[in-house]
Amino acid sequence: MPSVIFRKGLDLKQAVAPALAEDYDSVIVNEIISHGFQRTRGRLTVRLAKEFGFCYGVDRAVDYAYQTRMRFPKRTVYLTGEIIHNPHVNDKLRTAGIRFLSDPHEPREPLGPEAVIIIPAFGVTVDELAKYDQLGCTLMDTTCGSVLNVWKNVERYAKDGFTALIHGKVHHEETQATASQSLKYPNGRFLVVLDRDQTQLVCDYVRSGGSRHKFLEKFKHAASKGFDPDQHLERIGLANQTTMLMSESLEIGEMCRQAMIDRYGEAELDFHYRAFDTICSATQDRQDAVQNLVGSERLDLMIVVGGYNSSNTRNLARICTAKLPTYHIADAESLASLAEIHHRPISGPLSNLSQSRNKQEVTAKEWLPLTGEVSIGVTAGASTPNNIIGQVVLRLEQLTRI
Ligand code: SF4
Repeated sequence: MPSVIFRKGLDLKQAVAPALAEDYDSVIVNEIISHGFQRTRGRLTVRLAKEFGFCYGVDRAVDYAYQTRMRFPKRTVYLTGEIIHNPHVNDKLRTAGIRFLSDPHEPREPLGPEAVIIIPAFGVTVDELAKYDQLGCTLMDTTCGSVLNVWKNVERYAKDGFTALIHGKVHHEETQATASQSLKYPNGRFLVVLDRDQTQLVCDYVRSGGSRHKFLEKFKHAASKGFDPDQHLERIGLANQTTMLMSESLEIGEMCRQAMIDRYGEAELDFHYRAFDTICSATQDRQDAVQNLVGSERLDLMIVVGGYNSSNTRNLARICTAKLPTYHIADAESLASLAEIHHRPISGPLSNLSQSRNKQEVTAKEWLPLTGEVSIGVTAGASTPNNIIGQVVLRLEQLTRI
């Protein structure tokens, strides 16, 4: 039996609105917004970035998950994995009875037509989707439109004989799903680069070749099966995970373009290189807003709130840390006392999903001035709900009253 796929919700938006508001809204955050994105209490002024928190894709995915639960009260509803990278939101869905196929200890019966499966905002791989389809499951596909836009371009690369060069995190769900789109075509292939250093290796190979063996060893987990740098770097099309740092993605694009010009000449560029901007507008807006905040306001420190495995939150923290002391925290609990803050260090690899929170955190001391006026900038990643941000602001106010 073919699966049934819902992609536009279930006409229950109004019905789930009260539950969503109760679970994720914040009176304090609304008040801060209505007062010019700042709030002063005692010696503390909090300044909020003008774009922060839930993006349109996350808003929609969470809304559809609530609608799915309501529409199918008697059927088992699964999520393929985290709906977004925020533990509070995922826990709310678990509490509502939604089961996670990614949970290692989740006992489950074989999937079949009775199962309802929610696909998260980052999407799933082509193979995974085909598997649920063959099993006849009911699917609620919440893949974000901005992610679908990247897929369309990656497919076009594959059709036209270009290797998709993806700037992203190779183990991130979205990048895996994007890479899989290139494999829908017989000659499709991909290579994932994390940063400028890895891109430099690719550019060096484009310009003058090198050790094939060393190249393949370096990218053994990041290239499609059978990848041959001697053939498959001849024509490349650039794409990005939607949540990468905009400035870095632009730089990576320019590095690749220049390498192709050096190798084949400007006149041949169109045959060898294609690019399009796939950083989503929500990511870009949040990065621009925090640049603006740290560039124009007098701040003592920045707090960036979001899940430790959230790529876009981490990139917001990277922007801030170049300018002033910055702490990427998970929630208000991270603000232990006036003397101690638990936070995720900004350098180093993105957290492994399987690591527990306290294995990912370090503790910094003397992070908050003990006396005098203090001005703190706050922003939050696209997967952080307003209630968590509101709790952080309240905790800051509590600590600065001591
Ligand atoms: S960060 Fe961008 S691509 Fe990802 S869910 Fe949000 S809007 Fe969509």
